[in-house]
Amino acid sequence: EEVAAATGSSPNVSPGLPPATAGGPRMNATFVTLARNTDIWDIARSIRQVEDRFNRKFHYDWVFLNDKPFDEQFKKVTTALVSGKTHYGEIPKEHWSFPDHIDQERAKKVREDMAQRKIIYGDSVSYRHMCRFESGFFFRQPLMLNYEWYWRVEPSVELFCDIDYDAFKFMADNKKKYSFVLSLYEYVETIPTLWDSTKKFMKEHPEHISEGNSMGFLSDDGGATYNHCHMWSNFEIGNLDWLRSKPYMDYFETLDKDGGFFYERWGDAPVHSIAAGLLLKKEEIHFFNDIAYYHVPFTHCPTGQQKRLDLKCHCNPKDNFDWKGYSCTSRYFEINNMPKPEGYEMEQD
Ligand code: GDP
Ligand code: MN
Repeated sequence: EEVAAATGSSPNVSPGLPPATAGGPRMNATFVTLARNTDIWDIARSIRQVEDRFNRKFHYDWVFLNDKPFDEQFKKVTTALVSGKTHYGEIPKEHWSFPDHIDQERAKKVREDMAQRKIIYGDSVSYRHMCRFESGFFFRQPLMLNYEWYWRVEPSVELFCDIDYDAFKFMADNKKKYSFVLSLYEYVETIPTLWDSTKKFMKEHPEHISEGNSMGFLSDDGGATYNHCHMWSNFEIGNLDWLRSKPYMDYFETLDKDGGFFYERWGDAPVHSIAAGLLLKKEEIHFFNDIAYYHVPFTHCPTGQQKRLDLKCHCNPKDNFDWKGYSCTSRYFEINNMPKPEGYEMEQD
């Protein structure tokens, strides 16, 4: 018996692994990637891993967005890798430029100052357009209007474990609207007045603030100040109708008018996180322990040795960021009264 298994004559299939094509209803869902043509080989690696670990069973579509036209090579290579349908969209200028009310001189001074202070992406105009686009526009692109659910994938990310169930269906069945795998503290230099704008929004739109929200994740003093915790947005599975809703859009409009995407360097991660934390009920935000993920420089490797074995994970549990001091994930467990996964104190098993 043992010899047969070792030489591979009996198949080594995960008990929970659906057939290469999973049966059952499909969700109205898509992967979505914002990328440049030069990102082709980095996004190819991400796609290959998403396909191998998940999408080869489910064949969800993939939408690619770019502020410039995608070239033939980008389209050919990505279409060959994705097992669902691929769609390519060019972002309209209005969604990737300075709004009229922005004072160009002031914005330029900020970039020069941030460059001197060596703040990451502090001197970049395109990075700011990217953050504003991901905060307020990706879910409104014509191609995205066809879908209810999205999963964001960036270039050069890794997935380390099999995902044997439909993560979109999980979100729908469990009434989740937003999800994450990594959380951490934002660089305060990039968002000094984001919380001031948020407080203004809360005052102007108390009707949008949810009962039973996650304020305890965002603030240690009941909302007076922001503790800079946010969920990393380079991975997201979420509900597009929520982003397209009046509460989210009113929040984005408030932020956009205040100009912090250009007068500071507000990231889409704290924007999405604060929105999810205040506009959703805390039960509507999900932490995917079983989706093992890497985006430079952090890893989420699932806590629990049996889980890692069952899911055929290839991450080193010592790399797991969840319970380290700079992660906010403990705080998420605490405010949700959730017991931490078994084995969290001793990741090195
Ligand atoms: P980081 O993860 O914050 O270091 O930023 P990235 O460089 O990974 O950018 C975030 C996402 O936006 C990635 O999916 C990039 O491919 C994409 N992106 C960044 N800048 C641009 C740009 O100027 N044009 C386009 N089309 N995509 C961009
Ligand atoms: Mn990235």
